[in-house]
This record gives sequence, structure tokens and C-alpha cells, in this order.
Amino acid sequence: MREPDELADGIAVVSEAKRVAVLSGAGVSTESGIPDFRGPNGLWTRDPSAERMSSFEAYRDDPEVRRRSWQARLAHPAWSAEPNDAHRALVSLERAGRLVALVTQNIDGLHQRAGSVSVLELHGTMHETECLSCGDRRPMLEALDRVAAGEVDPPCLVCGGVIKSATISFGQALDMNVLMAARDAVTSCDLMLAVGSSLSVQPAAGLVGLAARAGATVVICNASETPYDDLAAIVLRGPLGEVLPALVS
Ligand code: NAD
Repeated sequence: MREPDELADGIAVVSEAKRVAVLSGAGVSTESGIPDFRGPNGLWTRDPSAERMSSFEAYRDDPEVRRRSWQARLAHPAWSAEPNDAHRALVSLERAGRLVALVTQNIDGLHQRAGSVSVLELHGTMHETECLSCGDRRPMLEALDRVAAGEVDPPCLVCGGVIKSATISFGQALDMNVLMAARDAVTSCDLMLAVGSSLSVQPAAGLVGLAARAGATVVICNASETPYDDLAAIVLRGPLGEVLPALVS
């Protein structure tokens, strides 16, 4: 039973930190009813073929992948999800003036809905669409209305091109400005808190190593092992809805 000791140590480390950078992942939102990819009940754990839906090339080149993607977006649990105690704990860290930035791999907007302001969305947002040809951006709900009305793969209203959620799929480049801001945050923090991520997607996961090399203490809160656990001063495996409120209390 090391966990209670580790939690007490984690509380001490977090309470002493003055500049905290957070890297969050899909595990923060599972308690809001949004499945992750690689956790025990993850979308890809249950259906490995679903990984193809996250490939940029497959989406761009295969109308069937786009048709399935639009149906998945229409039925996505994020539209009715509410922030949970893990999201709210990170809001209180920011309101206490101790957060440098909340870097998230999540696309669901729940950190902002909970009240977090300094959010860097490394992988974009599912709340907007973007045209792959002309770059036109619009609210996702406009496109979903068209899908619900019978358009299986709604084209861009400006140029007729393929539209996609404004998220970064595998094979797509990250927004360099967002990535640079994230790098600045993790190299200027004294505590790097990585929460709810398998830390298996680069370059996001590499931010943890970057923070450690720049001298930050690393705390990882995740139910399963990550490749960065050995770098961490403290690793906590409990559910984030309990662990994060305790850590920042
Ligand atoms: P991931 O699925 O690879 O890993 C999630 C991790 O969270 C797993 O290791 C799992 O064990 C852990 N976890 C799940 N629920 C937890 C809980 N309640 N308490 C503690 N740990 C918990 O997700 P990732 O590392 O974020 O990376 C994959 C990609 O998935 C990202 O690019 C992200 O954009 C995308 N994604 C986002 C969402 C979302 O926005 N909510 C959902 C699914 C996938």
C-alpha cells in the first residue's frame, strides 16, 4: 500500500510549487463519460480498427472514413458531457495563481467549460470545423446540423472542399505557435503535472521529458503505466476525480 504515502508526498510537492505546468490527456474526461483511446475501456482497446478513423490520410482520401467520422461526431458523448472534479481541481490551481499553462491533448473543451483560461489545445478542438482546401473555419454544430439533415459528408460551403473537425489527426502537423507556447510553459515551470495521458503521442508526451531536463519536478497521475514514469518523482494511479482535488487541496 504505497499509494497513501505517495499521495501525501504529492500533496506536499504540489503545495510547494509556485509555477505549475499541466499536461492533460483523455483520462481527465473519462469520468465525464468520454472514453479515452488506450485505457482499459478505450475506443481503440475495444476496437483496434477505430484507429484508422484518426488517420489524416485515411480521412482525406477515403469517403467511407469521412462518412463514419461524421456519424461518430454526431453521436459523440462530448456534446452532452459536463466537466468533472478533475477539471475543476485544475481550475482552482489556476485561480490560486500557480498555473503557468494547462497544455491539453484533449479536444473536448471541458477544461474551458470548467473555467480554465490558460489552456493550450495542442491537438485542436472538436467544436469547430476546418476546410482542408481553403481553411474556412465554422462552428461544428453547423456541420452537424447538415449531417443530421442527411448530408453524409458535408462539403465546404465556400469552396466545396473536404471539411474536418479542427483537430490534429495522426499525420497532421501541430500548430507551431501552440507547440512553442507549450514548450515555453514546460521549460519555465518548477512542477510538471502530467494527468490522464498514456504519454504515448509525440510531440505532446515529450514535453514531460523537456520539463524534467529543464529542472522541473515531474508528477504523473495516470491509471496505467507511462514511458515517463521513471522520470517522475511521484506517480499516482488513482482515479483523477479523486486524486486531483486531493493534490491541489
Ligand atoms: P490515451 O487514451 O492514450 O490515454 C489515456 C490514459 O488515461 C490511459 O493511460 C488511462 O489508463 C488513463 N485514464 C483513463 N481514465 C482515467 C481516470 N479516471 N483516472 C486516471 N487515469 C485514467 O489518451 P492521451 O494520452 O490523451 O492521447 C491520445 C489522444 O487521444 C490525444 O491526441 C487526444 O487528442 C485524443 N483523445 C481526446 C479525447 C478527449 O478530448 N476527451 C478523448 C479520446 C482521445
